[in-house]
Amino acid sequence: MSVRPKKYLGQHFLTNQDIAKRIVESLPMEDGQNVLEIGPGTGVLTDFLLKKNVHLKTVEIDHESVKYLNEKYKSDISVIEGDFLHIRTTDIFETSFSIIGNFPYNISSQIFFKVLKEKNQVDTVVCMLQKEVAQRISEPPGSKVYGILSVFLQAFYHIDYLFTVTPGSFHPPPKVDSAVIRLRRNNVAALDCDEALFFRIVKQGFQNRRKTLRNALKPINLSDQINTDPILNRRAETLSVQEYVSLTNKIQESWNT
Ligand code: SAH
Repeated sequence: MSVRPKKYLGQHFLTNQDIAKRIVESLPMEDGQNVLEIGPGTGVLTDFLLKKNVHLKTVEIDHESVKYLNEKYKSDISVIEGDFLHIRTTDIFETSFSIIGNFPYNISSQIFFKVLKEKNQVDTVVCMLQKEVAQRISEPPGSKVYGILSVFLQAFYHIDYLFTVTPGSFHPPPKVDSAVIRLRRNNVAALDCDEALFFRIVKQGFQNRRKTLRNALKPINLSDQINTDPILNRRAETLSVQEYVSLTNKIQESWNT
């Protein structure tokens, strides 16, 4: 029995065992630790994960893969059939856990927004995704590809770009290069500013990434007082997380005075 790759589910099965092993070795694992694999497919990463002494669960949306995995592993692992994006993480693990996976590329950004929502439960993420997205997430400010998700994720995670993987390592080969990255939760419990406003400012700033923040942030109704601040001459892609935090505080203070 095998699984017919389905494009609409982003199924590109990794065929290169060395890479599978390298991905699994990139996740720091302690005995008994909770690990969630997203999208095990036919289990190429799962095979290596099973050799580790961890508490492993997997979530897979594809019924055919779930059947395949249940036959292959019997009761060795827990395969939850479902959509990671719509599952309550506290229903999977009560305490904190790490995530590993060769992500379905079409929903990788949504997976990260969910990770952000559950950031206090998600310690570490090791994942493969489209190279472009991997770069965007891991690049520092000033880079052309630095974007909304980079700022949000870098606020709460240390991010390492680990290595690039070419299309020939998959069946069927994707049209794009892939890359493996690692996110490790930093010690920031909460940002030093109003987080809702921070998210709003970052999103608004990047709506028009070519414009200065002064122009891009017009819909936010900046007060006259802040409008002359030199930071607003800059563009969204040049600010670090810390600078967004201080901008958020400045904007909020200017409204309060
Ligand atoms: N880990 C396997 C498969 C990667 S392909 C390998 O490396 O070979 C991506 C996998 O994610 C597929 O098995 C696909 O069915 C699954 N998937 C797609 N969308 C999903 C979702 N929303 N929730 C959980 N799994 C999903």
